[in-house]
Amino acid sequence: MQGFEGRRNWRLLGCELKDRYMPPRSDQFDFDYIVIGSGFGGSVSAHRLVEKGYHVAVMEIGRRWTPDDLPRTSWSIHRWFWHPKIGLRGFFNMRFFRHVTIFHGCAVGGGSITYAGTLLPPPEKVWESGSWTGLADWKTEMPRHYATAARMLGVRENKILGPADHLLQRAAEAAGSGHTFYRTKVGIFQAAEGEPGCQTFPDPFFGGEGPERTTCIACGGCIMGCRYGAKNTLDLGYLYLAEKRGARVFPETKVVNVRPLNGASDGSTGYEVCTVKSTAWIRRQPQRFTCRGVVFSASSLGTMELLFRLKEKGSLPAISPQLGKHVRTNSESLIGARVPGCAEDLSQGIAIGSGIYIDEHTHIEAVRYPGGSDTMSFLTTILTDGRPGSRRIGLWMKNVLGSLLRHPLKTLRLFQPWGWAREAVILLCMQALDGHIEMCWRRPWFWPFRKFLVSHGDKVPTYIPQANEFARTFAQVAGGTAMSTLPEILLDVPGTAHCIGGCIIGDSSTHGVVDSRHRVFGYTNMYICDGSVVAANLGVNPSLTISALTERAMSFIPPAAEAAWNDAAVAPSG
Ligand SMILES: Cc1cc2nc3c(=O)[nH]c(=O)nc-3n(C[C@H](O)[C@H](O)[C@H](O)COP(=O)(O)OP(=O)(O)OC[C@H]3O[C@@H](n4cnc5c(N)ncnc54)[C@H](O)[C@@H]3O)c2cc1C
Ligand code: SF4
Repeated sequence: MQGFEGRRNWRLLGCELKDRYMPPRSDQFDFDYIVIGSGFGGSVSAHRLVEKGYHVAVMEIGRRWTPDDLPRTSWSIHRWFWHPKIGLRGFFNMRFFRHVTIFHGCAVGGGSITYAGTLLPPPEKVWESGSWTGLADWKTEMPRHYATAARMLGVRENKILGPADHLLQRAAEAAGSGHTFYRTKVGIFQAAEGEPGCQTFPDPFFGGEGPERTTCIACGGCIMGCRYGAKNTLDLGYLYLAEKRGARVFPETKVVNVRPLNGASDGSTGYEVCTVKSTAWIRRQPQRFTCRGVVFSASSLGTMELLFRLKEKGSLPAISPQLGKHVRTNSESLIGARVPGCAEDLSQGIAIGSGIYIDEHTHIEAVRYPGGSDTMSFLTTILTDGRPGSRRIGLWMKNVLGSLLRHPLKTLRLFQPWGWAREAVILLCMQALDGHIEMCWRRPWFWPFRKFLVSHGDKVPTYIPQANEFARTFAQVAGGTAMSTLPEILLDVPGTAHCIGGCIIGDSSTHGVVDSRHRVFGYTNMYICDGSVVAANLGVNPSLTISALTERAMSFIPPAAEAAWNDAAVAPSG
């Protein structure tokens, strides 16, 4: 067991060992592979490619974080939100579209810096729907890739149930779903039974090859970034090992162009990748790199946006017209409850410690923010039912006014932000039912001067009646008030942290953007490994699936010594 200080040495150790393991550079190219994005898909790709002997670079738009520079609470907006043009250099972003608000991570380690650490496999039936059905024997192949990803991400059952989890269990019992209550599987380093948290140990996950780690103290802060080094973020796992073996990570580096080299329009003679410094305001420090293969891992939203831009400007014109189709939001709704003056601190525990199923399709998890991180209170309001539109807004106003008249003090306490994280539980409701939107590259009506990523198609429902019913039961059991989120009521826009799809797996470019080995139709040695390839609603948090799919995709790439550099998607004949 070692002191807290010792944790900081792992980065230095990584740098020293990197030089020893660095594979020789190819003569003609700066790198064999350039991976765009360092999240789940990107880190798994980088690690497996380096392991196979390739010379790899990882380009990441976000910053590198250590436990010491993470924000203490969500009031440190500039260190939480990512919007470098206005001076916000955090690791979390919200993107607003007409059909959905998308929450996502942006950092070295991608979404893992802000994610809650929940790593669940989806039900088997997800392989029976969507455009990937029948393209591989998924049910036979995937379990071993899930097992590898779960081992690498250090997945264990959650041992720490906080007050919010006990409330979820009691509410589930009251609603008749008590038997479905389960402890989540998480990528968090937890102390042995009966041992205290905050103890530092030598690498517990990779046979001594990984960094030192500290056990969880159940502060509920996972979503604000773990300041104790207990959450198994990618920069402490896959990406750490990739860097240690020679991958070069370029933080604060935004990829702005990828185009085939030497006139071979399919990329068979390599690619040029152009970048700019993402945090620079004026001097954007453009750089140009060459490589033989490219892996797009910029997340569902990031990869779609980049590919639309590159297709439009003629760099990658052959990308399938399916780009942007079948974008899924996991059919989510955020509801919850607040208990003003609650005797217990509901922020204690891990961010998502438990879940339940209120029916076959509807999965609910109890989510919390750490004490002091009260800014999310501005997005919550009194629970309101009803069909979207002006009638729901009217009903919401009636609810708020009625509550103010009946219990003015109680209602004001409900809306004031201070103490929100200690008094509130968010219920993340996910449905495994199909429903999707489309993204396209258009000039929006309010700003016709340039094209942007915009959503269109049928709206995904923002109101899940059985979820609202459960929120009411939960509030009753907790002695508090049930809550909805404001954008869902006022704008009829659901929020999701689990945007997937947009470059889905299909049998040809008529049905997808990549084949079942994640090779991009129309190009050679080009892959997409991130949430954008997922072709069905998973009904559970997607990171484990993204990692497992990437493990599978990488398993088809030969070792560097045997590389023929002619890997292209083949549509099935007939
Ligand atoms: C608050 C929150 C909590 C969550 N909790 C969970 C959870 O508990 N369990 C779970 O399974 N999922 C969770 N998620 C979702 C999870 O974070 C994502 O599903 C996952 O990170 C997606 O992995 P990915 O590989 O597709 O991309 P990401 O992990 O998002 O990584 C993509 C990376 O690419 C970078 N990038 C984008 N464009 C460019 C560019 N042009 N150039 C260079 N780099 C670029 C981005 O900055 C980002 O770092 C959560 C998300 C949020 C926001
Ligand atoms: S609960 Fe706190 S210590 Fe535990 S993983 Fe989350 S942020 Fe880290």
